[in-house]
Amino acid sequence: MSRNYFFTFITLIFFLTSCDKNNDFVIFSIEDDKQLGAQVSQEIASNPAEYPLLDPNQYASSYNYIAQIANRVISSDAVTYKEEFDWQINIIHDDDVLNAFATPGGHIYVYTGLIKFLEKEDDLAGVLAHEIAHADQRHSIKQLQKQYGAQLLLSIILGNNAGQLEQIAAGLAGNLAFLRFSRDAEREADDLSVEYLAQTDYQCNAAFSFFQKLIEMDQAGNPPQFLSTHPNPENRVADINAKAEEVECDTTPLDPASYQAFKNGLPN
Ligand SMILES: [Zn+2]
Repeated sequence: MSRNYFFTFITLIFFLTSCDKNNDFVIFSIEDDKQLGAQVSQEIASNPAEYPLLDPNQYASSYNYIAQIANRVISSDAVTYKEEFDWQINIIHDDDVLNAFATPGGHIYVYTGLIKFLEKEDDLAGVLAHEIAHADQRHSIKQLQKQYGAQLLLSIILGNNAGQLEQIAAGLAGNLAFLRFSRDAEREADDLSVEYLAQTDYQCNAAFSFFQKLIEMDQAGNPPQFLSTHPNPENRVADINAKAEEVECDTTPLDPASYQAFKNGLPN
């Protein structure tokens, strides 16, 4: 038994004996997260019909702008893998979609529809913080482990299941925008968005204003896609505001005028 196999074996024993008590245990390493995330992001890049990515060369200033917002959030002490993950913000050109999602390992995708829908830079920082939390807390990997079982993920790590990682990556790429996390995972992402933003100049409860706008759309009989993966926006507005009170952070919007110029710089 090689050293690596031995440690994986020990890890498996640990997993089998501890999973009842600690369902947060993840058999994938951070390197595995990054590898899977890179695969998923390749799948997405090779499928422009489903994911029409905004050209980063043609829209370099838009990409720089959004990356700066994300970097302020990622620099928070509360982001565990800020150094380890390959954080990258991507823009999908579809004005009809009010959505954002994250791959394992820190690739974040935001639709132009969502960017244009939001009114302030703080609001976008809030959505990015929520997605960064999903990636940093490894929510999709935990979901995969539940879905496929630890044994299968382990056989991928051990290299006994060539092709399976590609299959899972392809499946994830086709589903990320519709991936539904548990209520606990959503709440965790909301709470962490407040903690991350509390360490920036942004309004720390900014994630709430997006949900507030969704509620208004829903009431107007026009429920956006995001609500299918993020239900109960009323509770979430209340939870986010309660978290901000608990943390006693600044809820004043920064609201720089440059957000409008950023929106205007995107294609129609
Ligand atoms: Zn979410």
